[in-house]
Amino acid sequence: MPRIHIIDVTNRDGVQTSRIGLSKLEKTLVNMYLNDLGVFQSEFGFPFTHHETNYINANLSLAKKGALAPIRLEGWCRAIKKDVDLAFKLCPGIKHLNLSISTSPLMLELKFRGKMSIDGVIESMVEAVEVAYKSGAETIGVNAEDASRTGLEDLIKFALAAKKAGAKRVRYCDTLGADGPLVIYERMKELASKTKIDWEMHCHNDLGMGAAVSVAGAKGIVDGGQDAYINTTINGVGERAGNADLLSVLLALKYATGFKDTKLFPQEIKLDKMWSFAKYASYAFGIPIPVNQVGVGANAFAHESGIHADGALKNRRNYELYDYEELGRGEPELVESGRMITVGEYSGVKGFANVYGNLEVEFKDDKEATRVLELVRYANVNTQKPLTREELLFVAKYPDEAKQILTVTPE
Ligand SMILES: [Zn+2]
Repeated sequence: MPRIHIIDVTNRDGVQTSRIGLSKLEKTLVNMYLNDLGVFQSEFGFPFTHHETNYINANLSLAKKGALAPIRLEGWCRAIKKDVDLAFKLCPGIKHLNLSISTSPLMLELKFRGKMSIDGVIESMVEAVEVAYKSGAETIGVNAEDASRTGLEDLIKFALAAKKAGAKRVRYCDTLGADGPLVIYERMKELASKTKIDWEMHCHNDLGMGAAVSVAGAKGIVDGGQDAYINTTINGVGERAGNADLLSVLLALKYATGFKDTKLFPQEIKLDKMWSFAKYASYAFGIPIPVNQVGVGANAFAHESGIHADGALKNRRNYELYDYEELGRGEPELVESGRMITVGEYSGVKGFANVYGNLEVEFKDDKEATRVLELVRYANVNTQKPLTREELLFVAKYPDEAKQILTVTPE
């Protein structure tokens, strides 16, 4: 039976968003959290941009070491030869790419100023796919930007050409979040059955339906006989009103009527990692989690009104659809309320030893300790806020990659 997989795009669509940014160290940590969670693939950056080169290559090295495995790290490029050539020049070890180009008549007219027809778009995409494989790529997905405003005939033509060129998947980008769930289900079912290639759902939340249309579209793909890949972001961040929220999509696949009796929830996902991941992302973005955020908001399991509190206390199923423990919530959290030593770019040896001692990290000798301390200072220059436990552990465990990630040398 066809399956549903998750491709998270926080480190690409999420961070390209206005007012949302992550340092390269934080992006690396996001990849680590996604890997621990069991996500199939992380769209981890832009391999053709110079300021990402060290970050991308260091993460590929972590993947080689098994520290970022089994997750697949995939880079985003425009579907033009120039981007693909540059991506392989800067990041020769990259194995997975998604190549993106607009397909809608509206964008052909308004973005390309009428200089490109759908055939020209397909030609550019096919050339980019072929160049990528020649350069050493293992899997390529192609993205139809603004697919929701593209006719089915053009999408089928685009997908069949991509398939012929060796692409493994086509991304249906609901770039403006315009589709409704019923329409997207029908469209995806038809696209999957007519093209016999796997499809990705890439849905935005402009109408508040990012997660709903993602799972509806994915069901259409599965019913059309192909595997579906849903694009998500942590805490739903992304352009404008955001992308499909990772946790909302997962919970919908597990608990929504019409999904819960299917086997479509990806079995490798460990939902109990979500609480710590969502909190880390919120800290890294510097954006609080809204109180009503699905699953991880402060109110997601809070009850106050008489009837609700009484019902929830009698039996949680009265007012809770699933258990908070499943998301890793409910453990008491120790917050230091007295003296606290943090480490930052101006830290010294004593404070540093105290912090790592509390994390039960021991260094081989003074030389190693000094090296890690120096890296921690640079990491703080990078993040500009106290480093989290996981960030400190990462720097101590992978000093070579940490050094590479923290190095940015403008041309
Ligand atoms: Zn997008």
